[in-house]
Amino acid sequence: MSNYVYKNYRIKRRFGQNFLCSTKDITSVVDIINPKINDIMVEIGPGLGALTEVVLNFVNNLTIIEIDHDLINMLYTRYCLKDKIIFINQDVRKVNFFSLCSQNGGRLLRIFGSLPYNMAMSIIFYLSKYINCIFDMHFILQKEVANRLIAVPNSRMYGKLSVMAQYFYNVFVNFDIYPESFRPIPKVCSTLVHFVPSVPLIPVHDVKYLRYLINFVFSRRRKTLWNSLRYFFSREELQKNNIDIFLRAENLYVRDYCILANMIYTRINI
Ligand code: SAM
Repeated sequence: MSNYVYKNYRIKRRFGQNFLCSTKDITSVVDIINPKINDIMVEIGPGLGALTEVVLNFVNNLTIIEIDHDLINMLYTRYCLKDKIIFINQDVRKVNFFSLCSQNGGRLLRIFGSLPYNMAMSIIFYLSKYINCIFDMHFILQKEVANRLIAVPNSRMYGKLSVMAQYFYNVFVNFDIYPESFRPIPKVCSTLVHFVPSVPLIPVHDVKYLRYLINFVFSRRRKTLWNSLRYFFSREELQKNNIDIFLRAENLYVRDYCILANMIYTRINI
């Protein structure tokens, strides 16, 4: 695998490089993204430019962010005459999306890409810092991760990812993309997922407490909430906030976690 060559390019496994090669899937992905001429588009991880090439047919403004120096050079050579592209050779988790947004007169960004499987969630949560700059995001992700993102309470897939993602975004699954549509062929199936920033039902004072709480209770998944939460709250406090202490982590809704995170915040900060 480390010597896999595709279109004269030696793939770098450490960057999670699986290039989309099915013309049918490329067309379907861009159809769903539906880029419009005046949209401010940002592609994460353009790779060899499979999606880039098609999206460019529709828009006047595209920023591409690619960590791999060789790939960005290749894309620069191909597209440097097109002044509608901005090239950024950086780990996307170091890019300041507030600057990107303000460089475009404050217009909201439409972000898309086929994310490296090993880094997808860390990229998505990095982007949640910039939620006020984002119009929407379309990402190709591992199907199993997509299922966890949309999972609802009381289901086996419901967990930390579901709570965090659904706190920030409305998440929709579009369609599956099979391993044979990529080179090299990955071991897993993929799915196109649409993220639309949402206004949380109950905003948390500080998201770090929400993250801490869900890490804590989901690592004790089999315990009742009372057994997990007794370190933080009295029985009466939980009952007063309508938290049924005999439930388990997977039975609580996102809004319940927000209430609990705010209770912890208040305890520590006030
Ligand atoms: N979009 C291309 C396609 O569909 O054929 C490539 C997708 S490939 C799964 C992921 C791409 O993201 C690779 O080009 C890889 O070099 C790039 N990448 C990986 N980690 C990155 C990061 N932290 N920041 C920016 N790009 C990254």
